[in-house]
Amino acid sequence: MLVLGIETSCDETGVALFDSEAGLLSHALFSQIDMHADYGGVVPELASRDHVRKLLPLCDQVLSDAGKERAHIEGIAYTAGPGLVGALMVGGSVAHALGYALGVPVLGVHHMEGHLLAPMLEDAPPAFPFVALLVSGGHTQLVRVNGIGEYEMLGESVDDAAGEAFDKTAKMLGLDYPGGPRVAALAEKGTPDRYRFPRPMTDRPGLDFSFSGLKTFTLNTVNAAKDAGEFDDQVRADIALAFESAVVDTLTIKCRRALEQAECKRLVIAGGVSANKRLRAGLEKMAAKLNAEVFYARPEFCTDNGAMIAYAGAQRLVAGQRDGDRIVAVPRWPMNTLPAVSEPRQN
Ligand code: ATP
Ligand code: MG
Ligand code: FE
Repeated sequence: MLVLGIETSCDETGVALFDSEAGLLSHALFSQIDMHADYGGVVPELASRDHVRKLLPLCDQVLSDAGKERAHIEGIAYTAGPGLVGALMVGGSVAHALGYALGVPVLGVHHMEGHLLAPMLEDAPPAFPFVALLVSGGHTQLVRVNGIGEYEMLGESVDDAAGEAFDKTAKMLGLDYPGGPRVAALAEKGTPDRYRFPRPMTDRPGLDFSFSGLKTFTLNTVNAAKDAGEFDDQVRADIALAFESAVVDTLTIKCRRALEQAECKRLVIAGGVSANKRLRAGLEKMAAKLNAEVFYARPEFCTDNGAMIAYAGAQRLVAGQRDGDRIVAVPRWPMNTLPAVSEPRQN
């Protein structure tokens, strides 16, 4: 089945063509980051309008890159949530209009399931069951994954997401959005152990996370350095490294616990923060000690993209799942309420 995937949940317009037999054929992405930069964050109305402008040209682009035409499309998947409702509505409207015109099934996909399954697009994908660490701009979750749509929530952040903490730290250090890659680049020049930041919630049992205290600790460190007249490039790099090390250690400790608790030898990491090199290295070192393996997607499929939505949608469309007549747009949508891929879905 040739599936067109559409991602418009936030500030990235992503489109891809995935063939259930031949694999990923093409993908294209337009990021609105520059447009929102002047406002210091994503402006929902501007995001929706820009998805309207970019979506159809990107659809044409992935078709032409794959040497296909609209008439070849056999199913359409779009991000139905979680995300900004206006932005979601754009993807859902285009998906349903195209599906109606072409007479093909359409399905709304869960954005985090997309992230979760993105590593499946790589060579040597993980087998089920596995433990997944979802670390993105809006989520930090540990999930036991027994199959597609079989998700058992093991733990999650009680406040900020890991990506959000990176973005806020970036701001304190005078870096632009998205902060993750910029903090990571600055941390390369940091002096190890110049500062020691806390590893929140690692000294007690459980698999939940909290990153807001770490954010405050970072702010206090920044302010103390400023007051002392020491806030130079080296100190900024040292703070970046101390922050990144604290996040990596915290995530690694919880992942080890989750693997042991779930008696699992496979760890999948997904979402924007899973592109972080120090995190990948830390988890691989930990996993090696447990005789476990770590799986992740190429960096461009860690952050938002159309390929993950085309992939996740294809698995469900092939199994016969599809939307009814209505566009689905769910701004808040817990992933563990999804049906297993084999169960019929009702909207
Ligand atoms: P969600 O998927 O939860 O709705 P989102 O779609 O905004 O949120 P993603 O696109 O998955 O999130 O990821 C973006 C986040 O990933 C940002 O917070 C960004 O700073 C972070 N990020 C991207 N690359 C890196 C990196 N190399 N190191 C750390 N963080 C990173
Ligand atoms: Mg984004
Ligand atoms: Fe995302």
